[in-house]
Amino acid sequence: MKSHCTEPLNILIVEDSQTNNKQLHQMLPKLSGYSPTIKSVNSLNAAFKLLGKDNFNVVLLNLDLPDSSGLDTITSVRRNCPEVAIIVVIDESDEDIGAKIFAKGAQEFILKENYNLQTLNKTLHYAIERKRTQEVLDRKQRHLEAVFDAAPVGMMLVAENMIVKRVNNTIRQMTHKKFSKIIDRSIGSALGCINHTNDPNGCGNSSACQECAITEGVKAVLDSQQSVHEIEIHFTLKIGDSIITPWLSVSAEPVMIDGSKHAVVAVDDITDRKKAEEKLKETMEIKAQFIATVSHELRTPLAAMKEGIAIVLDEITGKLNEKQQKFLDIAKRNADRLGFLIDDVLDFQKFDEGKMQLVLQTNNVKEVVLEAYEIMSLAAKKKGIDLLLEFTDELPEVKFDRGKIIQAVTNLINNAIKFTPQEGQISLKVMHQAEELVISVSDTGLGIPKDQIPKIFERFYRVSHPGKEVKGTGLGLAIVKKIVMLHGGRIEVESEVGRGTTFTVFLPLFAKEVKTFLTKQDDEILENMLANN
Ligand code: ADP
Repeated sequence: MKSHCTEPLNILIVEDSQTNNKQLHQMLPKLSGYSPTIKSVNSLNAAFKLLGKDNFNVVLLNLDLPDSSGLDTITSVRRNCPEVAIIVVIDESDEDIGAKIFAKGAQEFILKENYNLQTLNKTLHYAIERKRTQEVLDRKQRHLEAVFDAAPVGMMLVAENMIVKRVNNTIRQMTHKKFSKIIDRSIGSALGCINHTNDPNGCGNSSACQECAITEGVKAVLDSQQSVHEIEIHFTLKIGDSIITPWLSVSAEPVMIDGSKHAVVAVDDITDRKKAEEKLKETMEIKAQFIATVSHELRTPLAAMKEGIAIVLDEITGKLNEKQQKFLDIAKRNADRLGFLIDDVLDFQKFDEGKMQLVLQTNNVKEVVLEAYEIMSLAAKKKGIDLLLEFTDELPEVKFDRGKIIQAVTNLINNAIKFTPQEGQISLKVMHQAEELVISVSDTGLGIPKDQIPKIFERFYRVSHPGKEVKGTGLGLAIVKKIVMLHGGRIEVESEVGRGTTFTVFLPLFAKEVKTFLTKQDDEILENMLANN
């Protein structure tokens, strides 16, 4: 009696020997784990008729039939019925019969002399399992091929002899060539590299051959079995009748296909990005040049103006009446403002280009902060604002750039004065905690809305204060932030609209390795760090 756990199995025997047929018919119903339905035919043609109609799981196939012989018999069955597991029945084995029948698409073979239930059972089981595994792998392979074919970047499969075996449609569109003019050619030839076509030594051998980079890259991947990423290559390609010079970014990954080394090569056209980068670089250079020239052209006459004002104000040219003094004062303040503005713009440009150098020296903190205090105290007094200074008793000596730290602190006090109404109060506090020097500037001014706090350090960003607009460039805090970060420090803000703001600068006491030069990349890292804080 059959167990109810058995698997139904549709078996077709293709065998012209009566004896063998009979033997199989006797044994197959006794297979364990299966409940087989068995049909048999004695020619290939008869087999085709049934294979088209019934859903067979397994074919037991004799290779020498009246209408077919040899390994081609397997090919015919496989072509006719891709899903069936094929077990080849052979009279006698030769050494590599396994490899031969597998290559043609069969899953197993069985020697007639081994016809016994146990061997038959095992062979059937292996054949069915192998077929299932192959189907899973085939499906995966088809998925991968679909991804390869549909990729929006150019994809090439290159064999170990550096010959292109498969490409996707993107490559075809890039090269304006038919698949037949790409496949089975060297990489340079496939892409249409001009050096390839002109070079008698073949692809990648010309000294002028930019394409070497890709050939070398792919060779390296095949040899080392390690991937390469985004090599940027400036090609000269012949597309149709025109010569073009695209920038391509090439990445390659090693893969094994049918036991031999291949490389999957992804080729992305980055010409537009490269052009944009070049344009940006050019624009930045023009901007830097422009700023330097304009600033210089502004500074020279400004210096002369200031000098003139100072001479008249000092009454060297004669006594001034009150009105004259008042108007000259206004002229002086504005000339000074213009001077600060030019300094800010120039400073910022230097930061932007990564050219700002710090002059590090050991400083007496009190002296430095007092200097900033003194610079700003007159402006505070004029606005009727109390400017308080508070030190903790013991302040250590700290290494920093004196001029830059004075600039940062005066910038903060200057802002506090600008954004605090008359009668307000500003306190400048200096203390030291753990490994840090802490300088804070608190005011009782307008305050900054919470959602705008992260933006105030961006260049040119200014908070709007309707009805209480204050003049400025929006560069001050961006400069303060850069100065502090160049020292390896940080800056924090606490603010409440209508109550006031506190900016706190933390500087390391023992800056181990303070970077005195910021590259563009460092600059971006700093920007990101701050944006994410
Ligand atoms: P500027 O002062 O030239 O406008 P900053 O970069 O120094 O540029 O400051 C950016 C903005 O941050 C200012 O426009 C202002 O809105 C805000 N801000 C800076 N400091 C204060 C402060 N102490 N109180 C209120 N708002 C401030």
